[in-house]
Amino acid sequence: MAIVLSGKELSEQLTQEQKQRVASLVKEGIHPGLAVILVGEDAASQIYVRNKGLACETIGIHSVTIRLDEGISQEDLEGKIQELNEDPKISGILVQLPLPKHLDEEAALSCILPQKDVDGFHIMNAGKLFTGQKAVTPCTPKGVMYMLKQAEIDLVGKEAVIIGRSNIVGKPAAMLLLNEHCTVTILHSRTKNLAEHTRRADVLIAAIGKAKFVTADMVKPGAVVVDVGINRVNGKVVGDVDYEEVEKVAGYITPVPGGVGKMTISMLMENTIEAACAQAR
Ligand code: NAD
Repeated sequence: MAIVLSGKELSEQLTQEQKQRVASLVKEGIHPGLAVILVGEDAASQIYVRNKGLACETIGIHSVTIRLDEGISQEDLEGKIQELNEDPKISGILVQLPLPKHLDEEAALSCILPQKDVDGFHIMNAGKLFTGQKAVTPCTPKGVMYMLKQAEIDLVGKEAVIIGRSNIVGKPAAMLLLNEHCTVTILHSRTKNLAEHTRRADVLIAAIGKAKFVTADMVKPGAVVVDVGINRVNGKVVGDVDYEEVEKVAGYITPVPGGVGKMTISMLMENTIEAACAQAR
């Protein structure tokens, strides 16, 4: 049976540490603040935004949620971002994705000051990550790396296989694993003979968005399996990995819920605190 890598436990520990850090920063006159912009009424986005606000509250980070009408123009959205760029109480800005179809996501993200881009999606931060410079790192892959580090998993020279090539998970995860000296393969919807690649993986990361996509026969015995997926099936949240079957083969596995999702929020708090410190310097 695989060892379970609990994001819940790790995030609870991190919350305690972050609480103390924020309290001592506040004494020094540094007040981390996070602004989350939510456009429209998407149900999943509403839940994510609420959870981010609650995490801020627990840790002592000042937070504001800006709810904008579904039909807002690009110009007005960018105007709002500019206001937040200039607001000294706000150290981090997050635009909840996806945006409604008529809006240009990349243009909106580019409006965020790179030093306030706590999601790490600004082209400047992405470019720095891809050229090996210090950058704000996207929260989900940063959380994955934190879990692997805490479990003391040796990554040097290991075969890391990522399913999914998105800018927010797959690609940055690949860069971070490369930085840790893994041999990295990215798989995607047009990959041929996918299971041949996954069966080579010492570390397998699933970021697809398809419930129970990764089955036991796709996993090398003893592999580290990280499930990033969040899918709703009959009102239940499940990952991209067939957990019940894969846990019998894998060496380590992350559950859903209680895995990577928890770490994503913890890393968002981390990025917000770091942004506040950097801006104070
Ligand atoms: P995305 O839709 O942008 O990308 C999905 C990727 O999966 C694409 O690159 C695509 O090529 C690949 N893919 C789709 N079908 C495939 C197939 N049949 N075979 C191989 N590859 C296939 O999604 P994303 O934003 O990267 O998110 C992926 C999943 O992770 C979603 O379930 C999302 O909800 C979840 N997610 C979770 C967190 C978290 O905090 N846990 C954060 C972000 C995303």
